[in-house]
Amino acid sequence: MKEGLIAMDCLFCSIVAGDIPSTKVYEDDICYAFRDIDPQGPVHVLVVPKQHIQSVNAVDDTNKDIVAHIFTVIPKIAEAEGIAEEGYRVVSNIGERGQQTVPHLHFHIIGGRDMTWPPG
Ligand code: AMP
Ligand code: ZN
Repeated sequence: MKEGLIAMDCLFCSIVAGDIPSTKVYEDDICYAFRDIDPQGPVHVLVVPKQHIQSVNAVDDTNKDIVAHIFTVIPKIAEAEGIAEEGYRVVSNIGERGQQTVPHLHFHIIGGRDMTWPPG
């Protein structure tokens, strides 16, 4: 990990660094996936880039490959969790109105139950 890519006082940077425990589901050089502490379904996994990126709003040409990579990992996790075929939801909350509570880009993979629409 290059210097400056980890934000001090960021919960998910601390989880990626192993300073805060988590239940790992998947890891590679670019991203880390772990179980949400407050699951909103039988399956609820968070996938985060190891590099600190604040939210979807901060995705640009310099980090788009990281996000593209994460979207190749998401279906693998869904398959491993047994929800790929039946379907699931991928969510990224952004900012205040989007109800983002952790300012480090993350994608929720939620499945194992029927979803509703519109979301709350
Ligand atoms: P968001 O509200 O979209 O920013 O999502 C943040 C998610 O992180 C929530 O679903 C929380 O339940 C989850 N969360 C917060 N702290 C932890 C933790 N220590 N380990 C795992 N998940 C966490
Ligand atoms: Zn971070």
